[in-house]
Amino acid sequence: MKIEYGELILESGERTIRPDIFAKVDGDATPHLLARQCQDCGDVSFPPFRYCLMCNGEKETENRVLSNDGILASYTIARQVMPGFNPDYILANVRMKDDPSLVLVAQLTDVKPEDLEIDMDLTMVPKIIKVLMNGEMVVSYCFRPTDPAKVSLGEGGQTE
Ligand SMILES: [Zn+2]
Repeated sequence: MKIEYGELILESGERTIRPDIFAKVDGDATPHLLARQCQDCGDVSFPPFRYCLMCNGEKETENRVLSNDGILASYTIARQVMPGFNPDYILANVRMKDDPSLVLVAQLTDVKPEDLEIDMDLTMVPKIIKVLMNGEMVVSYCFRPTDPAKVSLGEGGQTE
């Protein structure tokens, strides 16, 4: 996986956890998550839903690029993990700044558990989170501290 001019480029043997969840934003070096927004009630869904589950509107939802900025709402450390996952990864609820009702479940990366604080600022970063039985590597959305002083490369969910 590499990122060139804000575009996520998969390499041989890699795939994203869901299709079409990363978007390139002109002028930004980091890809963004692509959500959907209801044209009727404005609800933002991620993972993206084609129809709104909040108001059951009949219009299709529209693409909505997220900002990549969230805050840590809660977290847990996964001691027992499924095959292919790195042990002791940190699983978090991340409240997105775009829409405070939008909470993503995602792994944290590049942070030591002792540096975590509820309500700290987090930034989305694409990362390989698991290796499938067939050797395929799965790229997903992770979050790391926005404050560089709290980033510890290679900690918390780092996949070999
Ligand atoms: Zn709606």
